[in-house]
Parts: sequence; structure tokens; C-alpha cells
Amino acid sequence: MKKSRIYLLIRAGWYLAGFILFYAPFAFFQKLLISVFNVSGNKDVHGSCFRMVVQKLFTGGGIEIKTTSAIIVLLVLISALLLGPIFCGKFCISGAISEYVSRIVPNKIKINWSKYIDQTPVRYGILAGFLIAPFMKLSVMCAYCNYSILQTLIQGGISWNLKALGSTTILTGFIWLIVLGAFTKGGRGYCSYLCPIGAVQSLIHSIGARLPFTFKLKYSADKCVSCNLCVKDCPMNALKNSGNGLQYNIHSCITCQQCKHVCPKNAITYGYGKSNWNLNNENDIRIIGKFAKEGKNETI
Ligand code: SF4
Ligand code: SF4
Ligand code: SF4
Repeated sequence: MKKSRIYLLIRAGWYLAGFILFYAPFAFFQKLLISVFNVSGNKDVHGSCFRMVVQKLFTGGGIEIKTTSAIIVLLVLISALLLGPIFCGKFCISGAISEYVSRIVPNKIKINWSKYIDQTPVRYGILAGFLIAPFMKLSVMCAYCNYSILQTLIQGGISWNLKALGSTTILTGFIWLIVLGAFTKGGRGYCSYLCPIGAVQSLIHSIGARLPFTFKLKYSADKCVSCNLCVKDCPMNALKNSGNGLQYNIHSCITCQQCKHVCPKNAITYGYGKSNWNLNNENDIRIIGKFAKEGKNETI
């Protein structure tokens, strides 16, 4: 079996672990925090809700650290700083489901949205809206959240009661799993454009990756043979061939390391130290960050 296929299965194991840790009926992580450390919170995926933490913080409620949500959000943000968006790349089954469903749909009937709509500004724009919403007394509700929809589907599936799914939830679910999932190249259209939790991790990673002790994707230009296998297999469309070599967009990368495992030359690795994306060589992968001006891209 190909190295990349084996790695897909290993990743599926990680996502399964994420499901058992954070989703009811298991939610072992929330249950551990509640029973051992005596914190308050929900014993399902709502016990890891980012929106509730942001809303409380931005409406003057401060951070109540002894809640499952605050602790999980803090851990996710710290891990993003030190390891990259590893929660997305290893544990979030909501992002993984749409990717894996898409992998069984033939490529010719999938759309590569990143060709038409730049991911980075939309992603960070949604994050900005998400953060500003509480100031305007607005609340992005659970019907928009793929975590919440998946949890409802799981619980509904167990009890055969799907009445909780309202029309907005069904519409969001359809967009997340079908339009931006099954029929999107990479299957992670929701992650690429709409998820504020993924976006905040990417933002933190783009800063953390400049530090020598943090983990990041690294590249050896001298080993790369420009076969484009990494471009084709990246679920976030973070790698592109521009004609002048490959481009890497750190603002979309979820450090899933699929590219590392598909590369036949070990040109991509993951570790601490300098990333070695050398911007002075046209043949190198460049960290473009679409916000950077042409010719003044940043090196990390
Ligand atoms: S971007 Fe959001 S939905 Fe996608 S993997 Fe990350 S947290 Fe999950
Ligand atoms: S660039 Fe590599 S690590 Fe980043 S999302 Fe794409 S495949 Fe995953
Ligand atoms: S990094 Fe590896 S997989 Fe990607 S183009 Fe170069 S040799 Fe091919």
C-alpha cells in the first residue's frame, strides 16, 4: 500500500481519537475535566465551544477559566502556537469527515474553489466577523457550526430523533458536507473559508512559525523534483504550482502532514528550526500569504 494511503488511515485513527475525546456519547476529555478537576461545562462537543468563550470575553464577562470550553480553547491556541493548527490536522473530525467523503468522489466532478476565490481574506474576514459579532450584540448561532451539527446528527442517529435539525442547520450541513465537502477539491471548503476556529489557529501559527523552537512544515528545495504530488494531495489547497515553482500558503495549512507523506523525495518535513522556504530562489516553494506584496513575501 502506498505511503500516503497508509498515512490517510493513520490520520483517520487520530480523528477517531478526536471524536472519542470531544463528542458525546463519549466526550472523555470534557468528562475528565469535569470529574477530576471539578470544572463546569457540557459533556458533549458544546463543552469545547469557542463562540461561548469569545462572546463572554467580548461582552465584559472575562474568561472563566474553570470551564471546559475555556480550557480546551486555551489548549488549542497554545498547541497552534507551538505545533501549528494540529487540532485541525489531527483531532477535528468535523473537518476530516468532509475531506474523507470527498476523497471517494471522482476528481473530475469536484470544484477547486481556491482557483476562483482567494481563501485567506475570506477565512480571516469570517474570523473578524466572528470576533466583532458580540460587540454588535449579534451571535453566530449553533446552526452555523459544523461541530454542533455533527453532534446533533450523532445524537439523533443514536436515538433516531432528528427533529432537532432545523432548516438553517440542514442548509449549513448541506453546504458543509456536500457543496464544500464531497464536491470540493480537498473536501475542506468549510475549513478553508468558513471556520473561525481553524482561522484563528492559522493566524497564530503564521506568527509562531517565525520562532526557532516551534514546529512547522519544512522544505528542502534541493530534494524537490517538482512532481506536484503534494499539490494534488493537499486537502487545504495550501500548495500551488505557479509555473515558477511551488507556492505554500501558511494561512491555509492545517499541518496535517499529508504532503510530507506523499512526497517521494522527503523534500517536506515537519519539525522545529527554520522552515527553509527560501524566497530568493524562484524554484522554491514560497510562503506567499496573499496579504504580502509581490516580491516582498516573507521568509520564515
Ligand atoms: S478548520 Fe474548523 S472544521 Fe476544519 S478542521 Fe479546523 S477546527 Fe475543524
Ligand atoms: S500543506 Fe501539507 S500539511 Fe499543510 S494542509 Fe497541505 S498537506 Fe496538510
Ligand atoms: S515537495 Fe515532494 S511531492 Fe512536492 S513537488 Fe517536490 S518532490 Fe514532489
